[in-house]
Amino acid sequence: MKNSLTPDSQLISWMTDIRRSIHQYPELALQEYRTAEYVSGKLEELSISYKKRVASTGIVAFIGEKKSGAKSVALRADMDALPITEKTGLPFSSKNAGIMHACGHDGHMAMLLGAAALLKNQPQLPGQIVLLFQPAEEDEGGAEKMIAAGALEGVDAIFGGHIERHYGVGEISVQPGIICAFTDEFQIIIRGPGGHAAKPHESVDCIVAASFLVASLQTLVSRETNPVFPAVITIGKINGGTATNVIADQVVLEGTIRTTHAEAREKIFESLRRMVLAVQDLYKTETELTLTAGYPPVINDTLITEVAREAAWQTVGEHGVKNQPYPSLGGEDFSFYLKRVPGCFVRFGARRDDLPHANAHSPIFDFDERVLPIGAEYLARCALLFLQQSMQI
Ligand SMILES: [Zn+2]
Ligand SMILES: [Zn+2]
Repeated sequence: MKNSLTPDSQLISWMTDIRRSIHQYPELALQEYRTAEYVSGKLEELSISYKKRVASTGIVAFIGEKKSGAKSVALRADMDALPITEKTGLPFSSKNAGIMHACGHDGHMAMLLGAAALLKNQPQLPGQIVLLFQPAEEDEGGAEKMIAAGALEGVDAIFGGHIERHYGVGEISVQPGIICAFTDEFQIIIRGPGGHAAKPHESVDCIVAASFLVASLQTLVSRETNPVFPAVITIGKINGGTATNVIADQVVLEGTIRTTHAEAREKIFESLRRMVLAVQDLYKTETELTLTAGYPPVINDTLITEVAREAAWQTVGEHGVKNQPYPSLGGEDFSFYLKRVPGCFVRFGARRDDLPHANAHSPIFDFDERVLPIGAEYLARCALLFLQQSMQI
């Protein structure tokens, strides 16, 4: 007998069309207006009721009702694209100059709509399913805004996932505990009086001070952090100077700190403050450090992860279910939901073996679209399994 939770060829081509249509019109964080209109249209096609303009461009849709004693489970997709000029050469490449779906969020929306189509056809749902189409994952913490707008009201558990090129199609990685890092950012401004390049003794050289600091910061992880805790400090931006014969009066360094343990995080913050102050004395500059807290780590709930593992097993079979042996130092704002309700975030294998360098956030990023029905089925199964199990308690 055909399993009604496995997408048929008609549903697969519906999802593929959705992915490609959304891919053509990518929009940045909190500007997903066209995307939201498009998703709303698809929900209407499925006769699913929804609220739009949640946290500006988000959508919350509902399948079934939360009757007394029944539970409610949320499934989430993110909606935003990145400020990248696409160079994939795909026939459905971005038509929005300088913006690209280079992280797979177009695929996530297609999967969630596919899951909605599968769940919509289930007779007598044992509870309610809430579909969260969330803006601004890459920037601005859209998850936090969705929560503030009430998107998790009445929700008992949440599931989500991300397309991932480190796994092949037909693999889903399911791991309890911490799977993504704290993603904090910092900015250091170094100031001096500036002056003539030929008279350094009459000035203070901010570029020399900044260079020393860049090199010194490399020791925060290698010499000051407990080596059993993974950590990264990357300075991704440096700006200073205007001409070869001018001593710069200001240099700005910006970077990110990735950690998976609160202890390592605090230690790095403390050491960073100390080093920035030390440069002030060492080079007679003025320094200013701004630390900005980013996304908290994604911590999967142990019990809910068992539901996820079962759903993955039913979707891709025993050999397709993978562990994630160590946390990624990437960030993911799904973590904000997990601070409120238990849930599980997984990775859907989607590597295109013919494109070995098409990494996420690169202008040639692409994924294997055969992941779309897998993601849809997995999400639908998570929702049903959770609701069925909670009815049995
Ligand atoms: Zn991304
Ligand atoms: Zn992403």
